[in-house]
Amino acid sequence: MVKVVIVGAGGRMGKALIQAVVAKEDTVLYGAVDLPENPNLGKDAGELAGCETQNVALTDNLLNALEGADVLIDFTFHAAVPNNIKIAAEKHCAVVIGTTGLTPEETEVVRKESFKIPVVWAPNMSVGVNLLFALTKKVAEILGPDYDAEIVEMHHRHKQDAPSGTAMRIAESLAEGRKRQLADVACYGRQGITGERPKGEIGIHTLRGGDVIGDHTVIFAGDSERFELTHKASDRGVFANGAVFAASWITDKKPRIYDMQDILGLS
Ligand code: NAD
Repeated sequence: MVKVVIVGAGGRMGKALIQAVVAKEDTVLYGAVDLPENPNLGKDAGELAGCETQNVALTDNLLNALEGADVLIDFTFHAAVPNNIKIAAEKHCAVVIGTTGLTPEETEVVRKESFKIPVVWAPNMSVGVNLLFALTKKVAEILGPDYDAEIVEMHHRHKQDAPSGTAMRIAESLAEGRKRQLADVACYGRQGITGERPKGEIGIHTLRGGDVIGDHTVIFAGDSERFELTHKASDRGVFANGAVFAASWITDKKPRIYDMQDILGLS
């Protein structure tokens, strides 16, 4: 059995992850960690997630929780990731990171620690979205810059970062398909007298509201036709199942960063 510790266990994704770990035959919930101010510390993590009792108390001590664990799954907050991965590396524990919005400095810490432990890091763990990344690149290659590309994403009102990590990854796939650097062609929203749309621009637009779990659309707008690729997640279980699948997959891998494209054979 793969012994899994979840950090961010008290959050929206944390609960879905506990359910997914409990449901999967080859994984077991070994630890559940959240912040010291979480009012549920000490309570059974399985019960908190709406599952049967797991005899794992929610704790704020990641170092202790990782003693003897195989994999850490991190769905927390961008600023928490560097410290979490350093602790995991100290314990020789593999890591699956779903947390988005990391700064370049935080990303660099993940990169450095991945020389010591295997890391799966993906802004979106769903099979459908990973297919969307691959299809977006292919369509961008085929249609070229004559088709204006725009990305629209929508998430629930509580989401902390924008654009979503998934939208950024779609934008990177698009730029890659056109053999351009995203930073040279990205346009984040528009306002005022913008002038004509430059050829080759990639528009990225963020909507926030309600309880939307995650919608992403890529629009390729040509003369007289529009081609759209859309993915809509209706349950956090799709991300949680992907992350737990990654947790089983990573245990015997060599240190480096992998993503869901590697796991699903789409890279
Ligand atoms: P959330 O706010 O509901 O949960 C985050 C939890 O992490 C909270 O309980 C918080 O207390 C805890 N936390 C924060 N810092 C911590 C720390 N230092 N130590 C321990 N616990 C800590 O948020 P959420 O909706 O569950 O999303 C979490 C992250 O996952 C976000 O970055 C989100 O964008 C990302 N996400 C990724 C995917 C994916 O497939 N990769 C899917 C959905 C969400």
